[in-house]
Amino acid sequence: MSEKTKELQKKLLWEFPHIGKKYPDHREKAEDFCQGYKEYLDHGKTERECAAISVRMLEEAGYRPFEPGKAYAPGDKVYWVNRKKAVIATTFGRKPIEEGVRINGAHIDSPRLDLKPVPLYEKNDIAYFKTHYYGGLRKYQWGTIPLALHGVIIREDGAEITVSVGEEKGEPAFCVTDLLPHLSAEQNKRPLSEGIKGEELNILIGSMPFMDDESDEKIKDAVKLQVMALLNEKYGITEKDFIRAEIEMVPAFHARDIGFDRSLIGAYGQDDRVCAYTALKAEIAAVSPAYTTVTVLTDKEEIGSEGNTGLNSDYLGHYISWLAKAQDADVKKVLINSICLSSDVNAAYDPTFSSVYEPGNSCYINKGCVLTKYTGARGKSASNDASAELMAKVIKIMDDAGVCWQTGELGAVDAGGGGTIAKYVASMNVDVVDLGVPILSMHAPFELASKLDVYHTYLAFKAFYEAE
Ligand code: MN
Ligand code: MN
Repeated sequence: MSEKTKELQKKLLWEFPHIGKKYPDHREKAEDFCQGYKEYLDHGKTERECAAISVRMLEEAGYRPFEPGKAYAPGDKVYWVNRKKAVIATTFGRKPIEEGVRINGAHIDSPRLDLKPVPLYEKNDIAYFKTHYYGGLRKYQWGTIPLALHGVIIREDGAEITVSVGEEKGEPAFCVTDLLPHLSAEQNKRPLSEGIKGEELNILIGSMPFMDDESDEKIKDAVKLQVMALLNEKYGITEKDFIRAEIEMVPAFHARDIGFDRSLIGAYGQDDRVCAYTALKAEIAAVSPAYTTVTVLTDKEEIGSEGNTGLNSDYLGHYISWLAKAQDADVKKVLINSICLSSDVNAAYDPTFSSVYEPGNSCYINKGCVLTKYTGARGKSASNDASAELMAKVIKIMDDAGVCWQTGELGAVDAGGGGTIAKYVASMNVDVVDLGVPILSMHAPFELASKLDVYHTYLAFKAFYEAE
């Protein structure tokens, strides 16, 4: 190939670089950045826990609770919490709010097994919890792994009990059983999606019977009674209290470095706490932004952004209207001039399962955050399709800041699909585009992300808030 052709190739064609090659010195920076990220993952395994840690981080950084109606000055930092499950943080900008705000929305709920309202039962001297899975998960992946129990119980006397069992060394864990290969001939004929069925996601929680010192009479459901006795001793609860509870069973393992080179992080719940953490760090880093920032860590994305803590509710709109009102601004003008990054993960190209990806339009680990123009399924259905103008704006912000980014669809056409919060924010008449971290084994109990991608996603979010 002649020099001239090489030059032409370089000038006309485009390929996204590998961050490790483009910025060798970022390996150490990413390593440092991800220490805090791993701690965030280990201490935030539910939306409530993530909201609480995020508030703690915000308060330590000088944020104060937002007071609707109060006048704020540029540089002031506030936060607002929606029902303990969603958090909004703001740094007030130098420009009048009618010029728009900069929204960064990520979600802090992740797929898991929720306890049913009447969860406790006994069968053949073994006690179990019945579960109803939350979000899109592949049920067969949740058998035979250690699970931890997290949640809240409101007792009859009104006391709110926070529970967490299975995370600390020395604590017991729980698990869903599965058949041995010797006896699974029938089960093996099931489609993979029914390898373990929904009503088989029963969690083993005990096997010792309650002992009555004063009588030899047989006790009905003695193992169930023993479990309840232990729970009553520790938390003062009775069986009825489960109806006043939200208890989530999540993988009990902690975040780990993956690979000889430690280039990846393996952990539960990286979708989408990876964007929540990076968004929060970028929010905290904003000192004197031109535009007012609105960092939203939301709930219920995994079940369609439903409920009053999901972004299909009006809470974000109400918050922005409070911001507008404080400056006597028209909230409709604020919204039409606003830009939102719907910060969520995308499916990284997996060479082992390459047939579901279109290689030219997939995202890859270690090539940076992924800008996803549209999501959806079957002809972009139910998707926010970001405009060329918005793509240009966001790409310019990242290019100017030297951020490594790439683009990618969620799999090949008609291979599947998915959604994010993007369309709900777009329906408020805000310009929205998806941006996030490529993930391997997404929605599995143990998901993988590249440290360099995590770091560059943070850099992208920081640049978004710093842009004039
Ligand atoms: Mn997500
Ligand atoms: Mn998800």
